[in-house]
Amino acid sequence: MSLLDPRTIVMLTGMLAGMLAMVLLIMRRSYPHTIRGLGEWAAAVLLFFFTGPLFAIGGQETEGLRICIANTVLMSGIYLCYIGTQRFLGVTPKLVQGWSLVAAVALVLAWFTLVDNSYAVRLAITSALQIYLFSKHAWLVYRHGTHTFSRLMLTCVLASAAGIQVIRYVAKLANPQMVGILDNTPIQVFYVTFYPFLMLLFMISAILLASERLREEFEHMASHDALTDAFTRRHMNEALAQEFERSRRQGRDMALLALDLDHFKSVNDTLGHQAGDRVLIDFVANVRTLLRRHDQLGRFGGEEFVVLLPESTAETAHAIAERIRAMMEERKSGCTVSIGVTSLCNDSDTVEVMLARADAAMYRAKNNGRNRVELG
Ligand code: GH3
Ligand code: MG
Ligand code: MG
Repeated sequence: MSLLDPRTIVMLTGMLAGMLAMVLLIMRRSYPHTIRGLGEWAAAVLLFFFTGPLFAIGGQETEGLRICIANTVLMSGIYLCYIGTQRFLGVTPKLVQGWSLVAAVALVLAWFTLVDNSYAVRLAITSALQIYLFSKHAWLVYRHGTHTFSRLMLTCVLASAAGIQVIRYVAKLANPQMVGILDNTPIQVFYVTFYPFLMLLFMISAILLASERLREEFEHMASHDALTDAFTRRHMNEALAQEFERSRRQGRDMALLALDLDHFKSVNDTLGHQAGDRVLIDFVANVRTLLRRHDQLGRFGGEEFVVLLPESTAETAHAIAERIRAMMEERKSGCTVSIGVTSLCNDSDTVEVMLARADAAMYRAKNNGRNRVELG
């Protein structure tokens, strides 16, 4: 038996797939439920696990049936991979359409195996479906979100999977002695050798993608407030320090707002804590609409917020603060807002000095009757 005997390779592929399925299932158990699609990817790999032995083990008399089942399982696995990626990317899969297509193809393949046995027709049909699914899959990954390494890797793997089907089909047209997946023609040996690698690379990219998502979620949790999704105090401290350094170095303006909702406690006392939470969530969502892209809004305490306004003079900052104050007054949510404004103006300024000045201005706004903006 040669080293590249297709039967051996197909068997090894199956075992490899089984191990990868285990990795994905372990990840599915331990990763947060917000990371979706791992279950479908694992199920797909498990199906690939059965495809190998189905093609490779068994006598001549069961061959037709085995080929039927193997093709159905393989197509289902490829479609499940696609569903997994759709779920992972937050796209709702069209399951009825997709499974109907897979079932219809499986029936046609069964006809051309059990009734009118023709490898050429089977190859044409399976190649067409695989090229269609892999290309659609590659396009989905490519057009979704930022092009990180794992995303580009996945796109390349899927495009190669589509490409290798095209190559095999063209080879079959030029080489009529190809009679089955396990024949010893160079193209089939190349195909059954290359395919497992693509599958392995698919799973590695999927695992990398999921890890990348996990890191993004942790980073988001560390930098965003769970209730309002405003930045956390920790993130704001870093952002303030960075922006302060940049403004100093480049001689640019920078301003800060300190905001505190007025009589917020009475919203909680009269309407309940949940209504209070709603006011905080709405406040953040509405303030965001009044800010520019590089401005940052952070929650410093219960109903206390800070806005960082890069490249802003005191006048610009005052105008933005006034818009926020007016917005709260108009919304009639049960509370208004008092705002202290300050800008980088003295050589002796530090972030702490600026924050203290904005805070003092905010307390002046409180003392002067609330629902006001004061310059510090
Ligand atoms: P002032 O106009 O002087 O700022 O009065 P105030 O009532 O807004 O200020 P005070 O500091 O007395 O009360 C703040 C309240 O905010 C008390 C606290 O229970 C409430 N609070 C803090 N965090 C949350 C939260 O996450 N959700 C809700 N619903 N309330 C919160
Ligand atoms: Mg308050
Ligand atoms: Mg307060």
